[in-house]
Amino acid sequence: MSTRYQNFINGKWVDALGGETFENRNPADWEEVIGVFPRSTKEDVDRAVEAAVEGQKEWRKVPVPVRGAIMKKAADLLVERKEDFARDMTREMGKVLTETRGDVQEAIDTGYYAAGEGRRFFGRTVPSELPNKAAFTIHLPLGVVGVICPWNFPMAIPSWKIFPALLAGNAVVFKPASDVPLSGTNFVKTLLEAGVPPKIINLTHGTGSSVGTPIIEHPDIRCLSFTGSTGVGKGLAKSAADTLKRVSLELGGKNAQIVWEDGNLELALEGVLWGAYGTTGQRCTATSRLILHEKIHDGFVDILKEAVENLRLGNGLDTGTDVGPLVNEGQLKIVDDYVKIGRAEGATLLTGGEPYEEGDCDKGFFYKPTVFINVKPDMRIAREEIFGPVLSVFKISSWQEAVEVHNDTDYGLSSALYTQDLHLSFHAVEELEAGITYINAPTIGAECHLPFGGVKETGNGHREGGWGPYEFFTEDKTVYVDYSGALQRAQIDTEEA
Ligand code: NAD
Repeated sequence: MSTRYQNFINGKWVDALGGETFENRNPADWEEVIGVFPRSTKEDVDRAVEAAVEGQKEWRKVPVPVRGAIMKKAADLLVERKEDFARDMTREMGKVLTETRGDVQEAIDTGYYAAGEGRRFFGRTVPSELPNKAAFTIHLPLGVVGVICPWNFPMAIPSWKIFPALLAGNAVVFKPASDVPLSGTNFVKTLLEAGVPPKIINLTHGTGSSVGTPIIEHPDIRCLSFTGSTGVGKGLAKSAADTLKRVSLELGGKNAQIVWEDGNLELALEGVLWGAYGTTGQRCTATSRLILHEKIHDGFVDILKEAVENLRLGNGLDTGTDVGPLVNEGQLKIVDDYVKIGRAEGATLLTGGEPYEEGDCDKGFFYKPTVFINVKPDMRIAREEIFGPVLSVFKISSWQEAVEVHNDTDYGLSSALYTQDLHLSFHAVEELEAGITYINAPTIGAECHLPFGGVKETGNGHREGGWGPYEFFTEDKTVYVDYSGALQRAQIDTEEA
């Protein structure tokens, strides 16, 4: 008998009003049902928003350092539960245990960062142009925030959004991706136990159309924080325009690692293996393209092939597994279709290129780590996000060509350059179109206290991580206090003085 899970709405654990459910299964072993979750609809979202609106009226009055202390308690509880939550996460979405531990750790770090922000939620004091007049700004909450998340970072990404939104005094309606409802549930339970008041966090499980759309369209939600694909993000921005919601979009990527002729090749190899095949290539920052200087191209391709073929596929809970399954059957098909497209376009398949079904892997959605060489910038595998363990290799002969190939995509999230040349490093920082540039490190590896996000079709200019979200989730109020006892007219009296 599978465990039944519920929504958390208006301070209670409840089924969806319509009574519908969906199963959460293990992508490494599709026969394992992890739990049964409510398939919510607009009616459930409406109730969640109503409760959030009501609860937020009190939450906004709680002093920010007190809210910060609750965030600290939540982070403390996540520390205690890290191992259990990491195991749940590996079971429901497949990535290996070392990575799911890292995912929970990122939520822990973000919780402690939020706690600190509670003691430094500064506005600004600004000199007035008039005598006997004070002027300053304060941060006020927006109201109710809608949080819609993808499945690839099941606790880290919700934490990037929910900790700052709550610290700032907002109430939250949260929809996790339907592939990872258990991690969403684990996170919400932890927040509640830490002391977040019940109506302030509402959890509604379900699909994009049945739960995501009502969140996007609800007139009482003032702000949307979305991470997911560029296609869905564009649609969300259009719908949200009708109610003039503030929208933060963190979308797709097509990230590249450049290896220059003087690069440390062993380090670059470790970097590309981690960047391209960590999380089975299902990271927004995954290394999807490898741009090699012609002088090291052939030698590097040889060591790359050998190393990729040595990667061990398997259940992410097993020690020794390097690469887990893809998240679901649909993702496996997308990856396989792109491999067929790459072959038809004329790229050379160096290794991989098919599902992997040996041993216990026949029960899950495993795909052989894949490398294409002789890839040209106009091919679809060079331009479109694949979101799987597929790497496209390019050969270049000049820095200008490297930059052109790198920038020749609609996305701009993460970039990496391996070189010993300081001058080239700073050219990379200036010329690579991406929100993040790593020098001598792979395209993945964000830290919670630095801004995270991308340019071009990777987003709409906002950044998660660091201090930016605390501005995004607040309105600034400007306050003037005139203690002159007379009418003072800005611009006019100053002009006459
Ligand atoms: P997705 O866009 O399919 O889904 C994201 C979320 O939106 C899910 O909760 C989904 O249920 C919901 N959704 C789907 N359709 C919707 C609709 N029409 N209306 C409202 N909500 C809807 O993305 P995914 O497959 O879950 O995640 C993978 C994508 O996320 C990749 O493109 C990846 O690059 C991107 N991503 C970006 C970042 C970043 O920070 N830039 C981080 C992680 C993942």
